Amino acid sequence: MTEATGIVGEFLSLKEETDADLLAMQCGDFYEFFADDAERVAEELDLKVSQKSSHGSSYPMAGVPVDDLTPYVSALVERGYRVAVADQHETADGHAREITRVVTPGTHLESSDASARYLAALVRQTSRGEGDTYGLAFADVTTGRFQVTQLDGADPASVLSELYTFAPAEVLPGPDLRNDDDFLERLRERSDAALTLHATESFEPGRARHRVREQFGAETLESVGIEGDEAAIAAAGAVLSYVEETGVGTLAAVTRLQVYGAREHVALDATTQRNLELTETMQGDSSGSLFDTVDHTVTAAGGRLLRRWLQRPRRDRGELRRRQSSVAALAREAMAREAIRETLSAAYDLERLASRATSGSADARDLRAAQETLALLSEVADAVAETERLADSPLADALSGADREAAASLAAELDEALVEDPPGTVTQGGLFRRGYDDELDELIDEHEGALSWLETLPEREKERTGITHLSVDRNKTDGYYIQVGKSETGDVPDEYEQIKTLKNSKRYTIPELDEKERDVLRLEERRHEMERDLFEDLRARVAERATLMQDVGRALAEVDALASFAVHAVENDWTRPEVTEGDELAIEAGRHPVVEQTTEFVPNDLHLDRDRRFLVVTGPNMSGKSTYMRQAALITLLAQTGSFVPARAATVGLVDGIYTRVGALDELAQGRSTFMVEMQELSNILHSATEDSLIILDEVGRGTATFDGISIAWAATEYVVNTLGSKTLFATHYHELTALGEELPTVQNVHVAADETDGDVTFLRTVRDGPTDRSYGVHVADLAGIPDPVVARSRQVLDRLREDKAIEVRGSDAAGDAGTTQAVFDLGSGQFAPGGETQRVETDGSPEAAAADESAEAAIDAETRSVLDELRDLDVNETPPVELMATVQQWQEELDEA
Ligand code: ADP
Ligand code: MG
Repeated sequence: MTEATGIVGEFLSLKEETDADLLAMQCGDFYEFFADDAERVAEELDLKVSQKSSHGSSYPMAGVPVDDLTPYVSALVERGYRVAVADQHETADGHAREITRVVTPGTHLESSDASARYLAALVRQTSRGEGDTYGLAFADVTTGRFQVTQLDGADPASVLSELYTFAPAEVLPGPDLRNDDDFLERLRERSDAALTLHATESFEPGRARHRVREQFGAETLESVGIEGDEAAIAAAGAVLSYVEETGVGTLAAVTRLQVYGAREHVALDATTQRNLELTETMQGDSSGSLFDTVDHTVTAAGGRLLRRWLQRPRRDRGELRRRQSSVAALAREAMAREAIRETLSAAYDLERLASRATSGSADARDLRAAQETLALLSEVADAVAETERLADSPLADALSGADREAAASLAAELDEALVEDPPGTVTQGGLFRRGYDDELDELIDEHEGALSWLETLPEREKERTGITHLSVDRNKTDGYYIQVGKSETGDVPDEYEQIKTLKNSKRYTIPELDEKERDVLRLEERRHEMERDLFEDLRARVAERATLMQDVGRALAEVDALASFAVHAVENDWTRPEVTEGDELAIEAGRHPVVEQTTEFVPNDLHLDRDRRFLVVTGPNMSGKSTYMRQAALITLLAQTGSFVPARAATVGLVDGIYTRVGALDELAQGRSTFMVEMQELSNILHSATEDSLIILDEVGRGTATFDGISIAWAATEYVVNTLGSKTLFATHYHELTALGEELPTVQNVHVAADETDGDVTFLRTVRDGPTDRSYGVHVADLAGIPDPVVARSRQVLDRLREDKAIEVRGSDAAGDAGTTQAVFDLGSGQFAPGGETQRVETDGSPEAAAADESAEAAIDAETRSVLDELRDLDVNETPPVELMATVQQWQEELDEA
């Protein structure tokens, strides 16, 4: 293979320098990708690939114009790539190129996504004695938010839960974790985050400590109380060094180190977030999610905060009560609330603007936006102060978190500086108001004086020379010139020096014009330069107040999010739940927050306490079991965000975690090994849950054959009840499990009521105590996720079976009364009609019966008969659901042919 030389060679050697996935290298007016990178990028972004030949070899090449780089890089980063950018700069002998930044999912400043994008570092320290210690650090470079925590003696499952509550875009695993394939595998499985192996040294304790002090000040670690938390410090140091090394210049926005206790939040792992459809539905749509349903925020920052509240519910009763009281006050004061929301709707994203100011990417429009938003703080605070109920609520405290005077003074400073509607570029002038800077004003006077001399020149020259067709203009090649129409070129004075002849006119210059032109250009350049310098000063002064901007942004976002809760509560008749330190969950006439939007919802009660801890929920498929359980989880979750809840009344004992698992059938379609997935997930729960947790198990054990499913579910129940003591709702189609209610005192049965007559099920949607009074024959197929037409068809088959003389029927007078005759399919045994009350019915020898026999016989052809034989012989216990599904499908085909 020949060494690539020239531009491709340069590309390849720069590529060697970086561990980024892709490299964009500037070549004049384009950024180019070469070789493999070109093909990858072309495929991802639908670009055209051309060939670049270099010393006899040819390389794929794809490029984007210099000005368009940002959106292309954003698109690549959003797909999970880390993209290095090499800029070109002029040197004495041509140009040189070097990598100036690496844009990664966790450090991507230009994110179009309104939600937070966290970069996380995760460090594990193994100590000889008790368990492992984990340090976690999270940075959102778009807002400057930086949070760390340390978990001592934690197990991997709870650490991962903690990590997922931030939904990080990129994770830097520490040196120890990199070699733990098991851990990395779990991380990959449940998170879309990019995993980046950042330099090991940056995790090194001394270096990390130094880095943290450098960023936040020498005394920081002591003052926030993590002086001795090596793992937390290592994680924090690594995040800082990574952000610095990627060179995107966002570190300055990170001004505050926030330490939080992992015990502040409700553990919600990624699977639970997905099952509860917090921010997107199982199908991956954002519409139809809980967030989408309850979000009435009017600002990007408010929406982001609301989303964070839902993803990270709190366990601090005081904080929840404060939020509730604010929501209650805002719910009562509709007029003031709507006025405040109207005011807020003009707000820009201050947290992100602060980041842009500190990274030096803010333009004058950004600073104007910051000014306008800073000014809103007083407006909102006044509106709150003017309404008694709001003024007395904790809302006033939320606002006092930001320094009103400082905000007003920064706003005033910006307002005095910048024109009302500044241009989007800082190099073309026109940014500052008159009176902002004397020197600039003088320069502007001079510049404008020179311009107006030029403007009035045609009038003066027309008068002086008597020429009528005379104008003054400017273009790139000729600079300023006087243009005279062809008919009058004979009349021009001697001092007119001709510079160009056109078809209908000639162009001239005169010494004064040359001189003024030089003046104008010089003044213009000085003015632009001066405005740019002044702007950079102003931006730097704003950047110094990044913390203030973050505080104001946060306060406004909080008001927005709380008002959003109030709006939703009022519009949907939600109530304020009582949050307690107790262990009950009592819901009166509860609804599902999302389903109630589109369905005439039947409200249901729920009661769990110390003695009634574990509910086995039975009922036919589609009766409402899943909805009932999710509704309980969502009401608990909403209560722990400070929101009102969809119920007539609710008492929610605070939980430390919510764990949900949904039977694997849905995942079958995704081709995963369902049994393994189910067991792993179940084992995670059994490891992480405590007596303060809420567990929702929905048809767990479905991914395996009946016998295994029942025994695992049984054993897991015993463990949850006897060892963990968590509040649990467990929906199952294994009727056998209702017997748990007799074995274990805190386990109770409830069922979702339904009427079944002649195979038609009427759903009542009402939850009642006790197990379902019957099992639902063909519903087993339904449960297995078999398509509706197949289920319908199997009902027909079943009906025919009833006419078959070898069928078992239930009922004492079955033979005499066809109305009570029913084929029974027992879930447990997989056989038709076992059990005491059934009896074998032989057809009698009467002529009517024989005729009926014959007609039944005639109605059933050979194909159908063979299907029926197979159906009868099928051992449901030993057949996995997938196979069951395939078999029934095959039957259907055979019957269709018949
Ligand atoms: P299951 O888990 O028992 O199969 P689901 O909870 O999935 O049943 O509910 C089936 C359908 O019934 C869903 O489409 C849901 O919208 C509707 N549903 C459930 N509970 C209620 C209720 N209480 N009121 C009205 N509709 C409900
Ligand atoms: Mg269900």
